Amino acid sequence: MDLANLTARGVLAVAVTWVDTSGITRVKAVPVQRLKHAVTSGIGNSPVFDHFLLDDSIVGGGPVGDLRLRPDLARLAVLAAQPGWAWAPGVRYDQEGKVYPTDSRGLAIRTVEQLAEQGLSVRAAFEVEWCVSSGAGDEFVPACSGPAYGMVRLAELAGYLHDVIEALTTQGVHVEQIHPEYAAGQYELSVAAESPVDAADTLVLVRETIRAVSQNHGLRATFAPKVLAGGVGNGGHIHLSVWRDGRNLMGGGDGPCGMTGEGESFMAGILTRLPALLAIGAPSVASYLRLVPSSWAGPYQCWGLENREAGLRFITAGEPNLEVKCFDGSANPYLAVAALLIAGGAGITEGAQLPEPINVDPVTLEGVPMLPIDLDQSLVAFENEPTLLAAFGEQLSAAIATVRRGEIALFEGNTAQEVAERSRWRY
Ligand code: GLU
Ligand code: MG
Repeated sequence: MDLANLTARGVLAVAVTWVDTSGITRVKAVPVQRLKHAVTSGIGNSPVFDHFLLDDSIVGGGPVGDLRLRPDLARLAVLAAQPGWAWAPGVRYDQEGKVYPTDSRGLAIRTVEQLAEQGLSVRAAFEVEWCVSSGAGDEFVPACSGPAYGMVRLAELAGYLHDVIEALTTQGVHVEQIHPEYAAGQYELSVAAESPVDAADTLVLVRETIRAVSQNHGLRATFAPKVLAGGVGNGGHIHLSVWRDGRNLMGGGDGPCGMTGEGESFMAGILTRLPALLAIGAPSVASYLRLVPSSWAGPYQCWGLENREAGLRFITAGEPNLEVKCFDGSANPYLAVAALLIAGGAGITEGAQLPEPINVDPVTLEGVPMLPIDLDQSLVAFENEPTLLAAFGEQLSAAIATVRRGEIALFEGNTAQEVAERSRWRY
């Protein structure tokens, strides 16, 4: 898109985002006239952001050093709900022009390229669940009162939901479904599958669009894992399928539920590493308020056909795919897709096989392993997972450990309600 065209469309400035180690989307913006400079030279960006916690306290790094944040104009979108603004995701480079080792979007791009070298590609989509509160206050006041999945809830906020769909569609996002969810004030939106980096970019764009439309309607949106200590939470489920030569390996084979051998291995590589993967996909203290049985959050280390309580749900309707149920909206989406692709790719290299599926509610069986029940357990699993550590590299793995431990310390001694309240408006 050329600059004259952006100006003609009324764009004054471009917001360039990156997602930090903690999962917070952060931004630097440039006027349109500076966009070319931002692409070639980057925007100044302190490496200290790797050590920010969700409350903006800092647990490492220092005031010295500078990275260059460069927008990826291939994903530039003129923002429909924020007149005068456009958005583009960025990648952080060092001053020699190399992608910075802790940059999560850079890691996701590299991971996709490495799978491509083996002839593999992945299609991915994030589901977005969010809760809408009335007014701008910090208390959560559900913006609708109709029943879960109720048509009343759609009617109560029909104008708002209309504007969410319209803004996303105008921005080129393929909305596939929208509906009221179970929790108070909760809705869900799904989008079409695309390449993993695009799916992560789309998630950032979808969330910030929903936030902006909410604000325009006098509402407040939160994607936090648990908004109220009681009740169910906001998931950040990820759908994945792995492909070779234009063929979806999750179907058309003679393995479990029709998977091919490589499709099964991809899923098995993820399943065995699920405890470690939670340090990436359920990265906040609040994540573990959500990850409990009977909440359809997938707190078990098992898989099942259409099983919404399994950590991995397998889906055969339409394009066969696996759904990572246990991840939530506090995850950095670039780290999340990178970690899943690394785990799945390792499964293929190892020729890993799936155990028997669990096709009943796991709570009714004995011996189905639970996933980690707190962030400390996930982090320890991550620190003992050589494949993920090697692919993430020392610097990024260390930043993840420091930030997770920092957030554990931040919430030390808090009640569940306090954790929910202090996390609620950060995501
Ligand atoms: N809200 C649930 C979660 O925390 C998911 C509900 C559903 O299956 O869509 O993941
Ligand atoms: Mg849902």
